[in-house]
Amino acid sequence: MSDPIVVCGAGIVGLSAALGLSRAGLDTVLVAPKQPLPSKAPGVYCPRVYALSPASQRFLAEQGVWDMLDQQRITPVESMQIYGDASGQVSLNAWQAAHQELAWIIESDELERVLRQAVQLFRVTWLDDRFDNFAQRGVSLASGKSISAPLVIGAEGGQSVVRQAAGIAHHSKPYGYAGVVTHLRVDRPHQGTAFQWFASDGIIAFLPMPDTSDAHQVSLVWSMPQDQADTLMALDAAARAEWLALRLKVLAGHDLGTISVRSAVYAFPLFCEYSDMVAPGVVLVGDAAHRVHPLAGQGLNLGLGDVQELLHVLVSKESYRSPGDMRVLSRYRRARAEPVLAMRTVTDGLHRLFAVQAPPVVMVRNLGMQLVDRLPWVKRRLIQGASR
Ligand SMILES: Cc1cc2nc3c(=O)[nH]c(=O)nc-3n(C[C@H](O)[C@H](O)[C@H](O)COP(=O)(O)OP(=O)(O)OC[C@H]3O[C@@H](n4cnc5c(N)ncnc54)[C@H](O)[C@@H]3O)c2cc1C
Repeated sequence: MSDPIVVCGAGIVGLSAALGLSRAGLDTVLVAPKQPLPSKAPGVYCPRVYALSPASQRFLAEQGVWDMLDQQRITPVESMQIYGDASGQVSLNAWQAAHQELAWIIESDELERVLRQAVQLFRVTWLDDRFDNFAQRGVSLASGKSISAPLVIGAEGGQSVVRQAAGIAHHSKPYGYAGVVTHLRVDRPHQGTAFQWFASDGIIAFLPMPDTSDAHQVSLVWSMPQDQADTLMALDAAARAEWLALRLKVLAGHDLGTISVRSAVYAFPLFCEYSDMVAPGVVLVGDAAHRVHPLAGQGLNLGLGDVQELLHVLVSKESYRSPGDMRVLSRYRRARAEPVLAMRTVTDGLHRLFAVQAPPVVMVRNLGMQLVDRLPWVKRRLIQGASR
């Protein structure tokens, strides 16, 4: 029997990689700490939610995972309302590109829960351990154990130890911004609309969530300057909730009425990061390989795109080549270069464009948004691009 492929990291990207490999008949071992997931309770929602693109949804459906998800906790996004920091405004509707949905909002825990069930169903060996270093023809783990492997997949997120141990070139730029997330109670139904404001104090998104027993609900992702986030997080919970409710009412009261905070508030530092995605016998996927600004809600989608491409490359390789052969891995590197660069350029570019407060720039960017809003073919292209 040949040595297994080792996947390090059991976030959504690592679990998807292990599941996909095992479904494709490739012997796989998952190495990651088995942290328990909070048990599911009615009316309690995981603070971390993702906007999944149609391409990610199709991939999860192909892996048999989509139908295992609790459909009551998935919210389809049918339209997007984007506001600039002056008169700019863009409305995107799924029907403009003959789609039914632009995206789906889903909780991180829910996705992890079904992926864990699926890897168990496919009998993937999961070692409750951590990658420590490379050993002769394989990896050594924190427990002292070692495993021979022709290919090691680094899926352990932004702090990837696999990436560091393999000496893979990596570029990291902290934005000096934090992503502040929480769930909000709103007066009026969101009607499947995601809202985004490019405001003077950051980029603020409301993602539609399931109604609770007593109110309508949206999830907040606010990319705000780090010092402002530090001040906010230093307040006690009641003062923080009051401050958020007041500020958000000014912004969104017109669309959603009164707003209040309904869960704990978290803040994540934001980075723009990218690396060479391969080395002999090593490949990176997900945040281990790249991190983008969350303004387009595409980080996880990019990671799932990596997994899809890696599976394709490994399944279609010549039978005489090892999965860790650089000729095989270079195909993955080539295929992912363009989509990763494009996403980084768009998200980083928009972040920079809206960070400038000079009046001529404010005027031009808002006029640009008005122009886009009047061009159906540009909107169609935007929707089709985001779907991929
Ligand atoms: C505020 C915010 C909002 C976002 N919103 C969206 C969105 O709407 N849509 C979207 O697509 N993306 C979004 N993203 C991006 C998304 O969160 C990430 O891209 C995604 O979670 C990355 O998943 P991952 O599995 O690669 O890494 P992680 O989720 O970081 O998982 C890494 C795993 O590796 C394990 N690990 C760590 N060290 C080791 C080791 N030594 N050995 C073994 N295992 C190890 C960890 O325990 C963890 O389970 C957002 C990001 C932020 C900050």
